[in-house]
Amino acid sequence: MEKDTIIIGNWKMYKTNKEVKEYLHSFTKNLSDTNVQVGFAVPFTAISLSAKELQDQGIWIGAQNMNSADEGAFTGEIAGKMLKDAGADFVILGHSERRTLFHETNEMIASKVKKALEEELKVVLCIGESLEQRENGYEEHLEEQISSALKDVDKSKTKNIIVAYEPIWAIGTGKSAGPKDVEKTHLFIKKILQKIFGKTVKIPIIYGGSVKKENIVSYMEKKSISGALVGGASLKAKDFSEIVQLSES
Ligand code: PEP
Repeated sequence: MEKDTIIIGNWKMYKTNKEVKEYLHSFTKNLSDTNVQVGFAVPFTAISLSAKELQDQGIWIGAQNMNSADEGAFTGEIAGKMLKDAGADFVILGHSERRTLFHETNEMIASKVKKALEEELKVVLCIGESLEQRENGYEEHLEEQISSALKDVDKSKTKNIIVAYEPIWAIGTGKSAGPKDVEKTHLFIKKILQKIFGKTVKIPIIYGGSVKKENIVSYMEKKSISGALVGGASLKAKDFSEIVQLSES
């Protein structure tokens, strides 16, 4: 990754294409030269439009899920090569909403990661613990999520991986994990990544969970936090622009 800080907005199931157009016009109007790598994980229906609207601006466009098959009789699913074809640069995989609401297992996520990397899509791999897991040795849980997703990935592909640490209890709840706690967990995640790929591996680890303009600086001050995955606070262009500006070093 070329830029040091990565700020990705996850729009989830929000925005018609009319709203996407208005948002992107307003966002790019306020965006000056930045050393922050900005990305938007948009609904499938907005990938082509967003890629066209943001052409040559250096902003990543991504999807929020994909299937691990190349093609086939999988009604309602979408393949990595279709995302690529529509103009996506990255895909979010393993988001806790996919794991809990749509019953995605570590095995399913591992095969999606493999396929996305084959398609040369960057992968934002989400991991995180529930409140209950946090109270019962959550490190083990995080290690399992990371190693199952990445154990078959070749080191040469790691330049296309970003890990997003998103404690489930902090997503969309307004309760964020404190920067000190996040830093400690990120250092632990770094160790696991080094165990899998060796000491020299460089995989950015970003934080997600109720990040907003009021708290972004406290995260960005920590060296081990390479950026943020922002849900709710990315839905308004003005708020998200401010988060990006506040993340500049
Ligand atoms: C997310 O959806 O990845 C997320 C972090 O959401 P929020 O910022 O709303 O907690």
